[in-house]
Amino acid sequence: MECPQCHTPLPDVAHYCHTCGRDVRSSAESRQQHFAVKPDEPVASFAIVSTIMPRGSGQRGQTYRITLVVALVIALLAACFGAVPLAVLVAAFAIPVVYIMYLYDVNLWDDNPVQVTVMAFLLTFVLGLGFTMLWFVGIGTASPGGSGAGQGAAVSSVNLAGLLVAAVLVPVVGEIIRQVGPVFLASRPRFDDLLDGASFGVISGVAFATADTLVRHWELLTGGFTREIDPGLWMSLIFLEGFVKPLVIGTASGIACAEFSGLGRGYDGFTPRYFRGVAEAILANVLYFGGIQLFSNLENATLSVVLSIVWGLLILGVLVIRMRRILHVGLLEAALEAAQAAQAGAPLPQAEQQFCAQCEMPMILGSSFCSACGASSRARAKDGQTALAQPVGAGSPAPSASPAPSATTTTEGEQK
Ligand SMILES: [Zn+2]
Ligand SMILES: [Zn+2]
Repeated sequence: MECPQCHTPLPDVAHYCHTCGRDVRSSAESRQQHFAVKPDEPVASFAIVSTIMPRGSGQRGQTYRITLVVALVIALLAACFGAVPLAVLVAAFAIPVVYIMYLYDVNLWDDNPVQVTVMAFLLTFVLGLGFTMLWFVGIGTASPGGSGAGQGAAVSSVNLAGLLVAAVLVPVVGEIIRQVGPVFLASRPRFDDLLDGASFGVISGVAFATADTLVRHWELLTGGFTREIDPGLWMSLIFLEGFVKPLVIGTASGIACAEFSGLGRGYDGFTPRYFRGVAEAILANVLYFGGIQLFSNLENATLSVVLSIVWGLLILGVLVIRMRRILHVGLLEAALEAAQAAQAGAPLPQAEQQFCAQCEMPMILGSSFCSACGASSRARAKDGQTALAQPVGAGSPAPSASPAPSATTTTEGEQK
């Protein structure tokens, strides 16, 4: 049997081409029902974990999902019973903590945890904190605090100023802040993979959301136990701030950073695709923060928060599907490119026996996809220092033993 797309000879039992990932049992041109990261999910799906945590989601996806749900339940219960500071704290840090746990789990930082944590999380967090405090205090001093006459005019001008800040300043400056660290990291040779870029964008966005939550709700955080509360309102607010907001901002930044990393070996850099990705990320934030700001003018606070949640989830849905499409197409096209390069005489990567991270079947040497389930071999955890088989060519800095062609470490190929 031969693959109709890349003409690789295939074993007769193969379901997927191990070189280009094509579904050879199906007549369909593209495999829209089998996400390259996690083939048992369709590409167009709202599965958040396999989207924002693409590496190793086959093995540990359930763990991350359960941890997130537990954190959500704790935050909501705390809000329900009036322990507002605890609720805000859990909401602010739940997703970053789970995400850093994921980075550790799959060794995404390639044995360089300090550099990745500082550049992708702390830098954005500190810059986000400073920036949010600046505009937040600015809005606060502009608010009509007890100025009796002409208060109506003052309110509407503050609303307009607030809308401009929320829908222009925060999205644009915020996205620039969120791009600095991930772009720096993704331009390092050991982090130039598409999935790395996407993940760094997500963690950066999540860090910004944490800073935003801490500044906006500092009074709640330091306000102590509240007895006279409306549990429904608090729970909705916590869900919005702790879960919807970080996912919207994180996915948006992840899309832009994935475009920066691009396909194949090396990073693509500041291409038109990257700037389109940044524009998409900014647009998502304009819609999100602008919408929230508009809803906040409603008289009924609960209605305003519920509308904000619905609005945020709509935006998140679009972003998740967009990001899955980028990852899916990226993995398939990169494999095809690598196969064509190999046919043209480029050296094949050093490969050792691998087992599929999703279905645990043995994989054909040097394959980009599992021929049984179709999972991309690049979506596995990074091997790091635990890898027994170092590439024979000494002097390669990253001991990545991934079988993907993009992971071949020739020093010349890395200096881009
Ligand atoms: Zn093929
Ligand atoms: Zn498999």
